[in-house]
Amino acid sequence: MLSVRDAEATILNAVKPLDNQLDVEFVDLLMANNRILATPVISSLDFPHWDNSAMDGYAVRYADVQQARADKPIVLQVVEEIPAGYEPQVTIKPGQAARIFTGAMMPPGANTVVMQEKTHRQENRVFVFIAPQPQEFVRRKGDFYQAGNEILPAGIPLTASEIAVLAAAGREQVSVFRRPRVAILSVGDELVMPEQLLKPGQIVDSNQYALATLMRELGAEVLLLGIIQDEPTTLQEIIDYAIANADIVISTGGVSVGDYDYIYKTLASLAAKIHFRSVQMRPGKPLTFATFGNKLYFGLPGNPVSALVTCWRFVKPAIKKMSGLAKGWESKFVKVKSSSELQSNGKMETYILGKLHLVNGVYQFQKSEGNDSSGNLINLAQTNALAVLPVGKTFVYPGEEVLVLHL
Ligand code: AMP
Ligand code: MG
Repeated sequence: MLSVRDAEATILNAVKPLDNQLDVEFVDLLMANNRILATPVISSLDFPHWDNSAMDGYAVRYADVQQARADKPIVLQVVEEIPAGYEPQVTIKPGQAARIFTGAMMPPGANTVVMQEKTHRQENRVFVFIAPQPQEFVRRKGDFYQAGNEILPAGIPLTASEIAVLAAAGREQVSVFRRPRVAILSVGDELVMPEQLLKPGQIVDSNQYALATLMRELGAEVLLLGIIQDEPTTLQEIIDYAIANADIVISTGGVSVGDYDYIYKTLASLAAKIHFRSVQMRPGKPLTFATFGNKLYFGLPGNPVSALVTCWRFVKPAIKKMSGLAKGWESKFVKVKSSSELQSNGKMETYILGKLHLVNGVYQFQKSEGNDSSGNLINLAQTNALAVLPVGKTFVYPGEEVLVLHL
């Protein structure tokens, strides 16, 4: 059986990232949160834009104050006051200074700022009690970045910090990768919508809600195709439609070896390239992965725990890689102590629901408390981590380290 690692490599190899020319759109800066930058940002401005003061104080000529001492202050004449946002009007000549505030433009003639705490003001004169360093507290035009420099590389997610940089560079809109389109369908005769009264044998299709939410969190645009019966003709029509209209299709259910599991046959009849039908993991063994050219098909098991675990483990990095992220799309594992006892049959790579919680400032893994049957979907609630027991590992003792997939 295919190992998790090989399954992951197969999937990630099949992912074709969005194109940085064809798959790009412009969005307003305030709508750009969590989008992926498609084009590097080149500044048309110097940063700082002009020489300015890093302190509240006095703009002076260094030569005038280089001999200043506490017991022998230098006295200068204050010829102008320059708050932030004003263009200085006066050139500072020998023996003169300008009152200046943080962020305000340096006046011509001055080259150094003396902080106000090292001075004493008397009407239009200022006493300087300390010799500053040459150019002290002056932020020089273009010291940080010059016009023409790249200030943001392509392929990064836009968060508050990057959006601040874009705004400072004078951008109103930004070019980002379009959202990957993900079609979601739930396969099973027993499935109904949450508002429906359950007849004997029926259950609510919770998977479409779980997957739609997760996909939107990952920045995808979701096409919800609803509940499809275990019936090959309809299934074939819907999958054909989904493939035509999405980059990635995710179905849940119908991938096992039961008489009513039609996903494999349907994919085969649609001439998909089927890469694998099962993975050595638990939960999630009957995971099916196929491609139609550049389009990806994930046939996840119907069991809600298996569906989410396989989605976290395999679909999430695939979507991130497709979305244009230059790096950081791989699954993130951390090694922490387990505060719970964990068990596996040792035959499969085993994923155990739980959470990372802080114990004296250090993260530990704690297993979900409910019944750990894979059919218990209530255990999914408040899960933020999966402990991973490799093949051959049957037991993790409390206090022992374990690898954890942070969700
Ligand atoms: P299957 O993969 O179709 O054999 O389904 C495995 C288990 O998951 C069965 O108990 C199904 O009733 C259940 N199941 C299948 N699809 C869903 C769904 N969309 N939402 C919730 N449970 C499901
Ligand atoms: Mg089924």
